[in-house]
Amino acid sequence: MIGETFGKWTVLKDAGKDKHGKSIVLCKCECGTRRKVLVTRLKYGHSRSCGCVVKAMRRAINFAP
Ligand SMILES: [Zn+2]
Repeated sequence: MIGETFGKWTVLKDAGKDKHGKSIVLCKCECGTRRKVLVTRLKYGHSRSCGCVVKAMRRAINFAP
């Protein structure tokens, strides 16, 4: 699944497994943030970005007239 995209994430490489034996991959968000994400979270759409989308939306709301 290297190179696949899920929302704003692009999978960079395999990052092993967590303590429960679930696969983790190193992902890069569209904004440049890199983070290890559980594969299941990507596949079920639970993780679509590093959170920058939500932050950008909050900022937009704060600066709205
Ligand atoms: Zn981001």
